[in-house]
Parts: sequence; C-alpha cells; structure tokens
Amino acid sequence: MASDPTRFVIIGNGAAGTYAAEQLRKDDAAAEIVMIDDEKYTLYNRVSLPRYLRGVLLEQRVTVRDMEWHVKNRIDLRLETGGAPKRFARKGRGGSSPSSGTDL
Ligand SMILES: Cc1cc2nc3c(=O)[nH]c(=O)nc-3n(C[C@H](O)[C@H](O)[C@H](O)COP(=O)(O)OP(=O)(O)OC[C@H]3O[C@@H](n4cnc5c(N)ncnc54)[C@H](O)[C@@H]3O)c2cc1C
Repeated sequence: MASDPTRFVIIGNGAAGTYAAEQLRKDDAAAEIVMIDDEKYTLYNRVSLPRYLRGVLLEQRVTVRDMEWHVKNRIDLRLETGGAPKRFARKGRGGSSPSSGTDL
C-alpha cells in the first residue's frame, strides 16, 4: 500500500528557502513542497538590488528563479500571502482554517 507523500512547508522564498526546496525535491521526487512568501517576487539576488534600483541591471538579470522553475520542480510557490499562517490547517483531517494568512 502506497503511503502519503511527505509534505514540507517552507516560509520564505529567499535563498535559504529556495535552495532548501531545491534540495528537498532532489532527495524526494514524490514530496509535496509548499513555499510561501509575503513578497510578490520569486527568488532574486538581493546583492544586485542597488544596481537594479539605479537602472544598471534589468529585472531578468536580478531574478534567480522564475515561476516556470517552480512549476517544473513541482514547488507550490504562493506569493503575497500576507504573513505566515497563524495555524496550519490539515486538509481532510478536521483541522481548522487559519484566521489570517494562507490556508495550508
Ligand atoms: C543590498 C544588499 C547587499 C547584500 N550584500 C551581501 C554580500 O555581499 N554578501 C553576503 O553574504 N550577503 C549580502 N547580503 C545579504 C544576503 O542577501 C542575505 O544574507 C540573504 O538574502 C539571506 O537569505 P535568506 O533566504 O536567509 O533571507 P531573505 O533573503 O531575507 O529571505 C527571507 C524571505 O522570507 C520572507 N518572509 C519572512 N518572514 C515571512 C513570513 N512570516 N511570512 C511570509 N514570508 C516571510 C521574506 O519576505 C523574504 O523573501 C546583501 C543584502 C542586500 C539587501
């Protein structure tokens, strides 16, 4: 009998979160990976921000991982979540929904 896939929820799609998700996918092809972030952008290079804001770099040169990469690697990225959930709801197991933030 097949067991349920392991589910990971990562808060923050900065370098730490994104590379953690990447490694989890390499280690477990079947895992369910959800990553949430307050921001509206996929991973970008923070170090390049000053040059981007001065107009020296284009947005494409600052973006490290685009949405296509997340889709291809089956990482369910949810942006602009409005803060981390207060409570995590377990779908189908009678858990309650969070009072604010994302329903996980
Ligand atoms: C201009 C600039 C220059 C830098 N130069 C260097 C350098 O030369 N060398 C160096 O080593 N480092 C440098 N840094 C720092 C480097 O960018 C950070 O160390 C690195 O980004 C940290 O990555 P992180 O994933 O740990 O955190 P972050 O990049 O801060 O990512 C965390 C993410 O989590 C999200 N988040 C946090 N809390 C929540 C929540 N409750 N709900 C939803 N989302 C949440 C945030 O929106 C964010 O996107 C620089 C940073 C800047 C801004």
